[in-house]
Amino acid sequence: MQKKLIILGAGESGIGAALLGKQRGYDVFVSDGGAIKDIYKQELAVNHIPFEEGQHSWDVILNADEIIKSPGIPEKSELMKKVREKQVPVISEIEFAYRFSKDSKVIAITGSNGKSTTTALTFNIFETAGLHAAMVGNIGLSYARQVATAPADYYIVEVSSFQLDDIRDFKPNVAILLNITPDHLDRYDYKMANYVASKFRIAMNQGPEDYFVYCVDDPEITGYLKGHTIHSTTIPFTIMEPLKQGGFMTNEQVNIQVNDEPMIVSMYDLALKGKHNLYNSMAAGIAGRTMDIRKEKIRESLTSFKSLEHRMEYVTTVRGVDFINDSKATNVNSLWFALESMEHPVVLVMGGVDKGNDYSAIQDLVKEKVKAIICLGIDNAPIQEALSGYTPVIIDTRNMKDAVNAAFGHAEKGDVVLLSPACASFDLFKNYEDRGRQFKEAVKEL
Ligand code: ADP
Repeated sequence: MQKKLIILGAGESGIGAALLGKQRGYDVFVSDGGAIKDIYKQELAVNHIPFEEGQHSWDVILNADEIIKSPGIPEKSELMKKVREKQVPVISEIEFAYRFSKDSKVIAITGSNGKSTTTALTFNIFETAGLHAAMVGNIGLSYARQVATAPADYYIVEVSSFQLDDIRDFKPNVAILLNITPDHLDRYDYKMANYVASKFRIAMNQGPEDYFVYCVDDPEITGYLKGHTIHSTTIPFTIMEPLKQGGFMTNEQVNIQVNDEPMIVSMYDLALKGKHNLYNSMAAGIAGRTMDIRKEKIRESLTSFKSLEHRMEYVTTVRGVDFINDSKATNVNSLWFALESMEHPVVLVMGGVDKGNDYSAIQDLVKEKVKAIICLGIDNAPIQEALSGYTPVIIDTRNMKDAVNAAFGHAEKGDVVLLSPACASFDLFKNYEDRGRQFKEAVKEL
C-alpha cells in the first residue's frame, strides 16, 4: 500500500516535499488554506499531484499516514490542533528530505541572525574546493526539491527553528549554531527557553562522529550548554579569547584550528566586514575544515566572497556619501551589528512592522554614531520614544523615496546612509527584498 502523505502549506518547501514524495512512491496530496501561486499549481498539475487551496479537507488530512507541515503554520492553528488530537505523525520538510539524502554529507546552519550569510559562505567554500555541493533551505531551492531534482554530495542547509521543531531523525554531519536572540517568541509561548531548546534540536541526533559548531560569546548558548549534554564533537568559536581548538582571534588574525591544524587569515583580508562577519567567517571556515577542505581553498573563499544582496550590501557613493542596503536586518540585534561595524557618521533609515522590539539595546550605539534617524513605517512612535533622546534628528517618512531624499539631505561627504530597519517590511513593502530594491532605485535617482 502506498503511504498517504499530506503536505500542509504549498510554499517552496511544501512543493519540494510534494515532488520528492511523489518521486519516492508516496500517495501525495497538497492542502493550502490560502491561495497557491500559479507557478506552483502548474508544477503540481504537471507532476499529477492533487491539491486544494483556500480550504482544508479534514477527512483527507486526518487520514494521512504522515504529514509534512510548512514552517509557517503555527501549532496554535485550528488545523494543527486537530492533527495533534488525532496523533497523525508530523514532520518538517528538512526531515523528509534528509530521509532520502543519507548517503550525502549535511551541513546545517541555524541561529537568529547570520544564517543566510553563513550558508552562502559555507557553500562558496565547498564550491571553491571543487566539491559537488548544493545550497538549500530558506536560501535557494528547498532541500527536498534539491534532493528530488539534483542530488548533491554535500547539502549546505539553512535551517530555521520552525523547521527544527518537527525533525525526528535529522542528523547533520556538521551543525552550526550562530547565536540566539529573542525572535519569533509568539510561536514559543513567549518563553525564551522554548526558543533556545528549539534551536538546540539541530544537535539532538548527533553522535561523536558529528560536529557541533557554536558561538561561545552567546550567553543563551553557553547557558543552555551548562545544563545539557551534547553528544557530538563540539567546536567553539569566539572573538574574545584564544582557544586550543576552534575559531578565535589573536590580535587582528582570525584563527581556525580544527584537528590541531592551525589556519590563519588577517581580519582585514576577509571579504565580509564587521564583527558579526568574523563569527560567520569562522563558522563557515570550521565547517570546511571538518570536511578536510584544504586551507588554501578556505582562505581563497573567505577573502573573495561577495556579500549577499540586502545584507550590508554596498550600493553606491553619491557626492561622497556611501549608501548601504541592509534591508534583511529585520530585528534589533541585526541593526546592532550593522551599527557596530560602522566607521563613519551614520544617517540611519529604519522602521516598519515592529515585532515588539526593545530599542534600548541600541541607544548607546545610536548616540555614538547616528546623526539622524529617518523612520520609514506606518507607526514610528516606538522608535521615536526609545531613540529621540539619543540622536539630534528624527524624521517620519512613509515611502522609500522620501526616506532616501531625507537621508541624503542630512548626510555630508564622508557619511554613510544605512538602511537597516530592525523591523519587518510588510506595512509598506511586499517583503524585505522589495524594500531593499526600492532603496537602491531611490538612491540611483538622487
Ligand atoms: P538570517 O538568514 O539569519 O536572517 P542573514 O545572513 O540574512 O541572516 O543576515 C541578516 C542580518 O543580520 C544582516 O543584515 C546582518 O546585519 C545581521 N547579521 C549577520 N550575521 C550576524 C551574526 N553572526 N550576528 C548578528 N547579526 C548578524
